[in-house]
Amino acid sequence: MSDEHDPQFELPGPVHPSVRLRAIDAHARRRFGQNFLASEGVIAGIVRAAGLRPGQRVLEIGPGLGAMTRALLAADVDLTVVELDRDLAGHLRDWLGGSPRLRIVEGDAARQDWAALLGGGRAQLPADEKVAVVANLPYNVGTTILTGLLAQPGLFSHLVLMLQKEVAERVVAPPGDRSRGSLSAYCEARAARRVALKVPPGAFVPAPKVHSAVLRLDLYPAPLTEGLAPALVERVTRVAFAQPRKTVRRCLADALEPALADAALAAAAVPPAARPADLDLGQINALSRALEALGAAEALGLAAAAAAPAEG
Ligand code: SAM
Repeated sequence: MSDEHDPQFELPGPVHPSVRLRAIDAHARRRFGQNFLASEGVIAGIVRAAGLRPGQRVLEIGPGLGAMTRALLAADVDLTVVELDRDLAGHLRDWLGGSPRLRIVEGDAARQDWAALLGGGRAQLPADEKVAVVANLPYNVGTTILTGLLAQPGLFSHLVLMLQKEVAERVVAPPGDRSRGSLSAYCEARAARRVALKVPPGAFVPAPKVHSAVLRLDLYPAPLTEGLAPALVERVTRVAFAQPRKTVRRCLADALEPALADAALAAAAVPPAARPADLDLGQINALSRALEALGAAEALGLAAAAAAPAEG
């Protein structure tokens, strides 16, 4: 929590980002991916999609000018925000820092140790203490932040994230969909996913060049890797999806020995002509199991320990 709680703190009303920027004599910084939400309707839709209860622990990444932060505090949640731009963190402290429910952290969400920040060093929290994440992510590091959050099912219950529309489509793409890639398979193994909201450029100040979408992801307690080490399956996924226009066989043969690729495909019953976008989770796990049994961990660049099944 902030050190400067104001016992008399009263939550201010919404303020348009252009008005806030003028008031604090600032401008949007492109290098921090700053496109501020100007639509209270979209903000309300995001908070609704998160389905929060009073007192629930919430993390907001990149609070910026605080439009969503304000709406989250109005929902009476126990809120931690992580902002990279020191100036904006300072302005947020001035505007909302008096709230006893808000903790403002200056830092890089792409490099946070979430267990240290939110779990007191623990990577596994009791179900009712798990943290919901709500964020309008900076698009330049959106994927890095998303994959980092999904790697912590012991800490996070669900994520409601604004992403660039194309990235959001990749996250939810099922087998056979043209936009399916390694990110789709990674996310599919870790969370139930749905598009909650589509958001046009005009909802932001300044308006980005791209359309956006809000996703809701509900994390599974553990990745769906059928007892295989997540690091092994993640590596095999990357290799199998490395060249989206080629066959899975070509992807595997380029990274490993062609004979090893053929043996793994046969053992996993994956047709050699299959394209990466056709692979479902069962096939990816089967390929991983086959490659492990064929002793390919080293060829995949994995230390034996990383390929060993996770305990429990
Ligand atoms: N939440 C605000 C809103 O919706 O109006 C701002 C969203 S803006 C798209 C992204 C925010 O993330 C900016 O405030 C930016 O400074 C911040 N940011 C950029 N990179 C970050 C990082 N690596 N870690 C934490 N915050 C970051």
